[in-house]
Amino acid sequence: MPDGIGQINPARILVVDDAAEGRELLCRWLERRGYHPTASSSGAEALRLVDEGQFDLVLLDLAMPDLDGIEVLRRIRARHSSAELPVLIVTGRTGDEDVLNALLADANDFVTKPIDFPTLIQRIEVHLGRVRAEKALRRSEERFALAVAGSNDGIWDWDLEQREVWYSPRWGAQLGLSEEELGRDPATWFRRVHPEDLPRLKAALQASLDDPSRPFAVEHRVLHKDGSWRWMLARGRALARDGRTVRIAGSQTETTDRKLSDPVTGLPNRLIFREWLETAARAGRDFGLLLVNLDRFRAVNDTFGQHAGDELLARAAQKLEAAAGDADFVANLGADEFAVLADADSAVRLAERIAAAFQEPFTVDGEKLYAQASIGLALRRPEHGSGEEVLRDAQLALRRAKDEGGARIELSDPKSQADALRRLNLERELRRALDDGEITPWFQPIVRLEDGVVVGFEALARWPKPDGSMISPAEFIPVAEEAGLIDALDARILATACAEAARWPGRGSRLPYVAVNVSAKKFGDPGLLDLVDRVLAETGLDPRRLKVEITEGTIMRDPAAAERSVNELAFRQVGLAIDDFGTGYSSLAYLHRFRADTLKIDRSFVGALDKSDSGLAIVRAIIGLAASLKMRIVAEGIETRQQHRILEELGCVFGQGFLFGRPVPAAEAAAISDGGPLGSTLPRGPLPELMVP
Ligand code: C2E
Ligand code: MG
Ligand code: MG
Repeated sequence: MPDGIGQINPARILVVDDAAEGRELLCRWLERRGYHPTASSSGAEALRLVDEGQFDLVLLDLAMPDLDGIEVLRRIRARHSSAELPVLIVTGRTGDEDVLNALLADANDFVTKPIDFPTLIQRIEVHLGRVRAEKALRRSEERFALAVAGSNDGIWDWDLEQREVWYSPRWGAQLGLSEEELGRDPATWFRRVHPEDLPRLKAALQASLDDPSRPFAVEHRVLHKDGSWRWMLARGRALARDGRTVRIAGSQTETTDRKLSDPVTGLPNRLIFREWLETAARAGRDFGLLLVNLDRFRAVNDTFGQHAGDELLARAAQKLEAAAGDADFVANLGADEFAVLADADSAVRLAERIAAAFQEPFTVDGEKLYAQASIGLALRRPEHGSGEEVLRDAQLALRRAKDEGGARIELSDPKSQADALRRLNLERELRRALDDGEITPWFQPIVRLEDGVVVGFEALARWPKPDGSMISPAEFIPVAEEAGLIDALDARILATACAEAARWPGRGSRLPYVAVNVSAKKFGDPGLLDLVDRVLAETGLDPRRLKVEITEGTIMRDPAAAERSVNELAFRQVGLAIDDFGTGYSSLAYLHRFRADTLKIDRSFVGALDKSDSGLAIVRAIIGLAASLKMRIVAEGIETRQQHRILEELGCVFGQGFLFGRPVPAAEAAAISDGGPLGSTLPRGPLPELMVP
C-alpha cells in the first residue's frame, strides 16, 4: 500500500526536474497517492532543500542545465548515505554512460521516462520500506543496548551462521571474566559448564534449535574464574529465518543463592517450571502437560523414614527422565509431585511409558519397593489462555486418577480420553498384528483405459479383523506413523508385494508392474533405498516392475532429501509415482525437478468429473501438465462408465478404480495378472509394453 494513505506521516519526496510539465505532473500524482512531494526546478535549489528539509526520498532528473544530475547526486551522497536517503534517478536515456556514473555515485534505483506510475510507486515503496526497516532495526538495537546495560542478567546471542557468540560484559562479569577474555567462541561458555550439567544444557539447546517455538531454560553450574562453581539459569529463544534456525539468544541469571533445582531430585523446581510453562503457552506451542504423582509416597515415608523417601524420589526422577525424551521438560513441583512438558503428539504415549516404568519396583536401600504413579494429562488447546489454565486441567485430571484408585492415567477431557484410549488400543493391536504377519498387501489392478488391459497392480495394506471385516488403512496408517511402526509396515508390504509380483505368470517385459505406497515419513530416508535393494535382490523382481508411490506433500517436506531418493530410485530403474495429485500443493517447479514418471490424479477429482465443470477443468489441466512434463497419468477411483469415457476423451491413458476391480488378495491378483482386460466390453487389444520410461 502506498505510504501516505491513511498514515499520520506521509513520506516526503523531493522531485527534482528542470522541465516544469513533467515535474508538476509527477508531484500531482504523488500527492494523489498520499505522499508529500516538494518540487525543485534546479540542482542548486535541490541541494539547498536537502540541506534544509527532511526528505525521505529524492526523485532526481539527470539532465539539468545548471548542475548536472550526477553532480547533484554526488553532493547529496557527501551528506547522506544511500541507506539514509534513497535517490531514484529519473532518466530518458538508458544504457548510456550516465547510468553507469549514477550507479557509481550511489544512486539507489532508476526509473525511465516516460514514467510508468504504478511501477514508480512500487519502487518508491521498496526503498522507503528498506529505510524504515533499517531505522526500526537501529531503534531496536539501541533499545536492546539500553536493556543490556541496565540488566542484572548476562546476555548472550549466538549467530549460528557465523558460529559466534556475543556475550554481554555483564555475562562475563558473572563468571569473573573481563571483556577481553570473553571473545566470541561458543567454547568460552561450554568449556566452563559443569560436566554433569553439560549434556542437559546441550540437549535443551538442541531441542530449541530443532523447534524454534520451543523456548529453553536450563539451570546449570559454571566455573567462575575464582575456581568456584556458580549456578546459572540460562534461558533463550531460537530464531528461524526461511525455515532455518539462524540464531539463538537469551539471558543468564545467577541462581547460586536461590538455587532453582530441587535438592533431592536435582530436577528444576516449581519456579522454573512455571516460567517454562508460560513461555511455551505464550509461544503458542502445542504441548501436553503431565502431572505425575506417586501413589504410596506418604506410606513409604512413614514406614521406612525420610531418608528412604528421599531416595525413592530421586529414583522416581531418574525413571521420569529416562522415559521422557531429550526435548521433554521434567520438573519437580515439590515432594512427590512431578511435571513433564512434552510434545502434544507424543504426550499420551509418554504417559503410558511412564506408567509402565512405575509398575516396576524401585530399589531403595537395597529393598524392593512398589510405588505406582497416578498421571493427569492435559493437552494444550487453543482456548487455553495461559499455561496456568493448562495446569489447572492437568490437576483436575490427576485428582480424577487418584479418586479412581491411583495407578492410572486420566486425560483432562472425556473426548480426548476416549480418543486416546482407542488409539492406544489400536496401536497395541497394530504392533501385535505386524509381529504376527496379519497385515498383508491386497492388489488393485491398474488398467489401460482404452481396452481394460491390466498394466499393473497397486499393493494396498489390508488388516483383517477376526470377524473377517477389514480395518481401513486410512485408520491404521496414521497410527502406524505416530507409533513409529510405519517403517516396519511399509517394509513388510514392499517385501510381500514384490515377492508376489515376482511370481505372477506372464511373458517377459509385458508383466504388470507393482506399485507400493511409501509413507512420507520414510521417503528421503536412506533406509528406504537399502530396503529396496534388499527386496529386489531377495525376490529377483525386475526393478522396472516396481513403482514407488509417494503423496504429493512428501516432496515438499524436505525437497533436498526427497530429490536424493528420487535420483537413487531412478538410478535403479525403479519407477516413481506421485500419488493423490491435486490434494497437496506442489510447486510445478518441483514436479519438473523430481523426475517422477507417473502422476496419479486423486480420486476426488475423478469423482467430480461427471458432476461439475470445474472438476472437468481441473482434470484436463492436470493431464495437460503431465503431458508437457512427459509423465504418465493414472486416474484413481474410477467408478462409473461415464467417468471412464470422459477420462479417455481427455487423453488419460491409464486408470484404476472399482469399475475395473477392487483390491483382491494375492492369489486372485496372480490369476488376472496376464493382462486383463477388465471393466471393458471392448475387444482385447495388444498388450502394452511395460510402463517404464
Ligand atoms: P492410495 O494410495 O491413494 O490408494 C488408493 C485408495 O483408493 C485405496 O484405499 C483404494 O482401495 C481406494 N480406491 C481404489 N479405487 C477406488 C474407487 O473406485 N472408489 C473408491 N471410493 N475408492 C477406491 P485404501 O486401500 O483404503 O488405502 C488408503 C490409503 O492408505 C492409500 O491411498 C495409501 O495412501 C495408504 N496406504 C495403503 N497401503 C499402504 C501401505 O502399505 N503403506 C503406506 N505407507 N500407505 C498405504
Ligand atoms: Mg497409492
Ligand atoms: Mg491415491
